Amino acid sequence: MALERTFSIIKPDATRRNLTGAINAKFEAAGLRVVAQKRIQLSKAQAGEFYKVHAERPFYDELCEFMASEPIVAQVLEGEGAIAKNREVMGATNPADAAEGTIRAEFAESVGENSVHGSDAPETAAVEIAYFFSGLELVG
Ligand code: UDP
Ligand code: MG
Repeated sequence: MALERTFSIIKPDATRRNLTGAINAKFEAAGLRVVAQKRIQLSKAQAGEFYKVHAERPFYDELCEFMASEPIVAQVLEGEGAIAKNREVMGATNPADAAEGTIRAEFAESVGENSVHGSDAPETAAVEIAYFFSGLELVG
């Protein structure tokens, strides 16, 4: 399996509860390396651009409000099969469905406030990494 990079966000519900380190420990235990990371606060427009694939969904406005409500931690994770591995460590979107030991099972508050984002495919990972990080910020 190839070395891959994926894009991750530690969401406002998690930064508010001081869970950045606990979530990074889950990534590292799974063999994912945090190769870039910054704590920032998005505007609602920036959150809307990031989540524009969901623009027609009923939860879109609430999702954008939430993502802009408090700081997030934007990250690039690297590892063998990082995209699928990260989705596995995150758990299902709805914490009620998330497998035991996953980030969402342990930390998520609801289907909306579910602690983490992770890219779902190589194409989206590339677009999402480039939206948040310049090449100079990716030191590996
Ligand atoms: N979301 C929501 N209600 C839903 C489905 C999704 O509020 O019924 C939010 C949730 O924060 C989720 C994000 O929208 O993480 C993006 O949804 P997606 O289906 O892409 O889930 P993910 O890839 O994050 O597991
Ligand atoms: Mg998604």
